[in-house]
Amino acid sequence: MSVPLLDLPAQYKEIEIELENEVLEIMRSGRYIKGPKVVKLEEELANYCEVKHAIGCASGTDAILLALMALGVGPGDEVITTPYTFFATGGSISRLGARPVFVDIDPETYNIDPAGIEAGITDKTKAIIPVHLYGQCADMDPILELADRKNIPVIEDAAQAIGARYKGRPAGSMGAIGCFSFFPSKNLGCCGDAGFMTTNDAELAGDLTILREHGAKPKYYHKVIGINSRLDALQAGIILVKLPHLDRWHEGRRKNAAFYDEHLAGLPLVLPRIADDCISVYNQYVIRTDRRDGLREHLTELGIGNEIYYPVPLHLQECYRDLGYREGDMPEAEKAARETAAIPIYPQLTDEQLMEVVSGIKSFFDN
Ligand SMILES: *Cc1c(COP(=O)(O)O)cnc(C)c1O
Repeated sequence: MSVPLLDLPAQYKEIEIELENEVLEIMRSGRYIKGPKVVKLEEELANYCEVKHAIGCASGTDAILLALMALGVGPGDEVITTPYTFFATGGSISRLGARPVFVDIDPETYNIDPAGIEAGITDKTKAIIPVHLYGQCADMDPILELADRKNIPVIEDAAQAIGARYKGRPAGSMGAIGCFSFFPSKNLGCCGDAGFMTTNDAELAGDLTILREHGAKPKYYHKVIGINSRLDALQAGIILVKLPHLDRWHEGRRKNAAFYDEHLAGLPLVLPRIADDCISVYNQYVIRTDRRDGLREHLTELGIGNEIYYPVPLHLQECYRDLGYREGDMPEAEKAARETAAIPIYPQLTDEQLMEVVSGIKSFFDN
């Protein structure tokens, strides 16, 4: 039996009729950009994330870009973030001509280590972007306290963490702006690219809404320069169908995580560590061993899906060579990139598939 890392058709089957009816209704309506589906979705997302405003856009990457634009980040500015993330976090900073300043991670959670941030702050620092990696929130209180003291806004990269909680507070509700993605592999994914931003600040919400449509307000009158980053009605409709199922899917992921926690305990593996005050939505279940490459080869031979998130930390990416970082500068991120791998965690996994993954991992360590 093979076990894929992610099985989107299995999710599709659960809600096939609802989804197809919704898509056909939108196709027939002729309203393809913005319109009532997007307005309704934005209301429901604000409600779900417990914020005042949710603003749809074309991707999670654009959400980060628009957030930085709304905060006025530009050439010569610096933005502090983690090197252990998907490239979009750093790339969006660079696209505005600003410089990403990386701060190493906490090896327990793989999220930015708040203790390292203050040393990275200069008079050019315009924002701090913690990433809630794998579905667990970064340790936000010390980050928010420092940011507040230094008067620097915080953007949460919550692309992997919709529905996650930190001390009871939802991801995306703690900083100035939260950024989310509907990329198909996220816990709430559409059938293409889309994303959204959250904020409790009415002025920022207004700016984000204008920036996502070429900076126009009213239409064809441009006070600022924005981008084209709208949320399609079709993707909004698909997300509207999926949203009521999200908490059940999160629960399924947590149940699978608990199964692995129990059955993989005792092996020479580091299992995910979720802080006591966090509720993870397990976008990924990431295990750690210094025999990672051998384990991956073994699992792949058995037909068990696995992946490295992420093999090269951002500070060592070729495109960032001119930032001047060297190997050894971010030892925890570099070590995590060498030793971690994600295994299947999606909620539609059957008991047999879960058992298959566990026995596949056990058989590697038996040899
Ligand atoms: C997926 C992801 C993004 C980008 O989202 P897209 O919708 O793919 O553009 C940004 N940051 C992180 C941490 C992500 O996982």
